[in-house]
Amino acid sequence: MSDTKVEIIMKYKINTEKCKICRMCFRTRCKALKFEGKVIIDSDKCNGCGMCYNLCPANAIIMIDEGK
Ligand code: SF4
Ligand code: SF4
Repeated sequence: MSDTKVEIIMKYKINTEKCKICRMCFRTRCKALKFEGKVIIDSDKCNGCGMCYNLCPANAIIMIDEGK
C-alpha cells in the first residue's frame, strides 16, 4: 500500500437562480442541505456524494472543485 494518497473531494452548491425549491434534494436526508429562505449546502458538511446532484430535476446543483 502506498502512503501517498491524493483525495479529491468534489463539493456541490446550489444555483439559487435555477432552484425551484421542489425539495427533491431533501429526500437524501443529507445534513449538509438546509433551507434558509432558499436551499443551501453547508460545504463543511458536504462529503461530495453527489446524491442531491443526481436527484435535482432542475439541474440547480453544481459541482465545485475545492482544490481551486
Ligand atoms: S453531494 Fe451528498 S453530501 Fe453533498 S449536499 Fe449533496 S447529498 Fe449532501
Ligand atoms: S432538488 Fe434542485 S430544484 Fe429542488 S429544491 Fe433541491 S436544489 Fe432546488
